[in-house]
Amino acid sequence: MQGMMMDRPLLISDILKHAARTYGDVEVVSRDTDGSLFRYTFGELARRARRLANALHNEGVVHGMRVATLAWNDHRHLEAYYAVPGMGAVLHTCNPRLHPSQLAWMLNHAEDTVLLFDPAFLPLVEVIASQCPRVRKYVALGASAPTSTKLTNLVGYEEWLAASSDVFEWPEFDERTASGLCYTSGTTGNPKGVLYSHRSAVLHSLVLGNAQALGLTRDDTVLPVVPMFHVNAWGLPYAAPLNGCRLVLPGGRLDGASLYELIEGERVTFSAGVPTVWLSLAQHMQTKGVRPSTMRRSVIGGSALPETMVRLFAESFDVEVRQGWGMTETSPLGTMSAAAQDDEKVSAAERYRRATLQGYPVFGIELALAGPDGAHLPHDGVAQGELLIRGPWIASGYFNHDAMPLVGGWFATGDIAAIDAGGCMRITDRVKDVIKSGGEWISSIDLENAAMAHPEVVMAAAIGVPHPKWAERPYLYVVLRQGAALDTAELRTFLEQRVARWWVPDDIEFVDDMPIGATGKVQKQILRKRYVEQAAC
Ligand code: AMP
Repeated sequence: MQGMMMDRPLLISDILKHAARTYGDVEVVSRDTDGSLFRYTFGELARRARRLANALHNEGVVHGMRVATLAWNDHRHLEAYYAVPGMGAVLHTCNPRLHPSQLAWMLNHAEDTVLLFDPAFLPLVEVIASQCPRVRKYVALGASAPTSTKLTNLVGYEEWLAASSDVFEWPEFDERTASGLCYTSGTTGNPKGVLYSHRSAVLHSLVLGNAQALGLTRDDTVLPVVPMFHVNAWGLPYAAPLNGCRLVLPGGRLDGASLYELIEGERVTFSAGVPTVWLSLAQHMQTKGVRPSTMRRSVIGGSALPETMVRLFAESFDVEVRQGWGMTETSPLGTMSAAAQDDEKVSAAERYRRATLQGYPVFGIELALAGPDGAHLPHDGVAQGELLIRGPWIASGYFNHDAMPLVGGWFATGDIAAIDAGGCMRITDRVKDVIKSGGEWISSIDLENAAMAHPEVVMAAAIGVPHPKWAERPYLYVVLRQGAALDTAELRTFLEQRVARWWVPDDIEFVDDMPIGATGKVQKQILRKRYVEQAAC
């Protein structure tokens, strides 16, 4: 027997309509390229999104067409987040930190017709434009079009919008319609496009806001530091308006000082970003001897969260840091570490340790582990295998690509993990980063976290290097705090107290900085190449 409930589609335009109707006077604050702050409300956001939909429609953009963005987190980008999918087109967010040839490849693969870009990226757009013949309109996200000798069909966003009506009826269509496209920054082969749907985006936003996940409420002021070109800023541009949260968008100024100023000035209560960003914020606050007065919670994801960071934020800044795990293919929310209120009875040290675990699947997500033969492994906290995931916002394939990521209906993540009997998941490695020494696995993440527990260590990255006896041994690259007086023998002794003796690398190299990729992760392939080059000398 079927239930007798209305079959209304879940559409992104409904989030906007709801925000404008229910939280119409809630503010959006956006940092412009010149550093000034722009303010308006969800009501005004909705009005300008309708204008943008009309402007795109007048440009010939119809249902299913792809519209690309190359932009920071700001209010104009937010308008595109609603207007493009709202009208039934597909928002393709591009990462400006990628190589121009890779960007051009993606624009061509996606068959983008319009490119909305931050004027700061004009030189980059000029480089790729000649390689992207399908893009018929370039829109500079500013008051007027910048001067360009290379771009034909270039307009300024505000002029373009002013010429369009703000009357637009958001169409109704199948909730499984594609809404967004985001390419994974894969290190081998061509990037792969993950195609989100309205259904997946709305369900993801609903779960993202709930108590087990980010716990967003009307009282929150949310600062998404994670870029809107990286997995939809983890869904915050949808989840914040859905929950009536005030939204603060930092533009391109992501250094510690600018972020601190914004957090204080706008009384931010909640923020989200990758560990490298929080590292620079923490360094700024330590140097200046300041702490945030309103920010209480922060979610860190994208890479493993070192315990030192959880401790530092809790003890020095009174900010609770939780860890989220996910990937482009998972929209991204898969798991969240336990919240402080779940842990009231345990010691602070135990709470910090728990925060370093990737945590529990949120509602809608199921996890499993696959052994080398594909058989599922027990959830006993010990068995390690490739992490499998399934749920309504997990990719089932890639856009115009024959790679098949599903194994028996599960998405194979490429992460190695263990899951305990209580369902708590811990990532130990990426499949391709695994270090196997004498037939036993060494967790590069555990080794890196152990090194980063040393007060003089800012960053650490372990790679496996060939060894005649053990097949592979760990090699540890370490960035030290400025002026630190630590030698490798001392660090080795420190590690011996924290990890198994045989895990401790014979080779530790101090480096000035780490190669960080476009999405804030250490690029281990560059470290491996560096090692091979050094070994050949
Ligand atoms: P991306 O698709 O660029 O967001 O990268 C996803 C990958 O980042 C995952 O497969 C993990 O390897 C890594 N990752 C994301 N979040 C975490 C986390 N909390 N801990 C460890 N690794 C993570």
